Amino acid sequence: MQDSNTIGGKDVAVHLHSYTNLAALPSTPPLVIVKGDGIHVVDDEGKRYVEGMSGLWCASLGFSNKRLADAGTQALNTLPYYHTFNQRTNPAVVELAERLLKLAPVPMSRVFFANSGSEANDSAVKMVWYYHNAIGKPEKKKIIARKRAYHGVTVAAASLGGLDANHRDFDLPLARFLHVDTPHHYYGAKPGETEDAFSTRLAEGLEQTILAEGPETVAAFIAEPVMGAGGVLVPPAGYFEKVQAVLAKYDILFIADEVICGFGRTGNMFGSTTFGMRPDILTCAKALSSGYVPISAVMVNAKVYDAIAANSGKIGTFGHGYTYSGHPVASAVALETLKVYEDEDILGNVAKVAPVFQAAARAFANRPMVGEVRGVGLIGAIELVADKAAHKPFAPEQKVGYRLAALALEEGVIVRAMGDAIGLCPPLIISAEQVTDMFARLARAFDKLEAEMLAKA
Ligand code: PMP
Repeated sequence: MQDSNTIGGKDVAVHLHSYTNLAALPSTPPLVIVKGDGIHVVDDEGKRYVEGMSGLWCASLGFSNKRLADAGTQALNTLPYYHTFNQRTNPAVVELAERLLKLAPVPMSRVFFANSGSEANDSAVKMVWYYHNAIGKPEKKKIIARKRAYHGVTVAAASLGGLDANHRDFDLPLARFLHVDTPHHYYGAKPGETEDAFSTRLAEGLEQTILAEGPETVAAFIAEPVMGAGGVLVPPAGYFEKVQAVLAKYDILFIADEVICGFGRTGNMFGSTTFGMRPDILTCAKALSSGYVPISAVMVNAKVYDAIAANSGKIGTFGHGYTYSGHPVASAVALETLKVYEDEDILGNVAKVAPVFQAAARAFANRPMVGEVRGVGLIGAIELVADKAAHKPFAPEQKVGYRLAALALEEGVIVRAMGDAIGLCPPLIISAEQVTDMFARLARAFDKLEAEMLAKA
């Protein structure tokens, strides 16, 4: 039980935690983070950690960027709030939308703003439905996502997702949300199947699902370029090319969820560029503001926008938007974030450091418990397995991944266990030396885990 005089103890008594094992919480003290400093965060006992996950895949500029703090302060002192309903706007949101349209990986027409990745994806779903009503295809409403996808936790976003914990006991997914197979070659491919052949089979599976449902009922397909919370799954060769050919054949809209991959993570400004994706709708959040303020965006192409706008002319109002859509403070901080990416050539740093990061991660492939190391740019994962030769996972109740993450924490590096996939997604400002230090800490955690497992065996 917690000491009720500590922050952790008080927390447990009053705070309903996000995404936490609530039954175990009283006996497992929460980590109290009080300060940030570059790629590090500091706990209430003064211990410093390398934040190998940028928080929740978001703090791309680390935890102490002064320009962002100043931009937010200035915005708070100028116009702390205004809305964008009923033909209202503000200078920051206009400049932000202009910049986003310039950065977009494919031609986009308009930007809608929300506060989180979940809201952005919910908005995308509603726009897809609205669009099909507008063009006179009201029966075309089903949305196809992938098993192990993560698109957020609001009712529609959680329905898009393909992770059991987000559905189980919440009576989700809603009707009209379907899930096709995960593009994870390591576990999904048949013996000897090449990545390209695996991609062909997945695209055929998608087509079969569409035909079984009736193409006239299928509205959109949504995909993260790299599946993040599902375990950092990099698409196999040819995957998006083959999938997009199927979508085009049946006139199905393509939504790219760039909430993690957007803004440099995979080496290009957007993951869509890295993987040849040509979305009609693109959602982004997280690194849009380096996580400093809640803001997300939905970019839509002219095909979608023009239909939506024409229909709202008919009925009077596009009845969607949030109190904080285009919030002036959030917009100002996001705008400054995009300026920092350009001024400080953050993509240049990713280009320089990513090879060091990927090589250091791949060095773990020689370890006895590592089945696969995967990644691109500055995102990666190390998959722990019980049997390397047989691609056999550990039993989930062994919680091997969680144990490794706990040992890593002891070594002063924060990583994320997604089952037995150990995720890494450090701030994009990380240096090559810091990458080396991060992996040295992780290696010490691995050494301890291997010793523990040997002792048990
Ligand atoms: N999409 C993806 C790909 C994500 O990784 C996340 C968050 N991890 C979301 C959507 C949801 O974002 P939020 O938590 O801001 O609602």
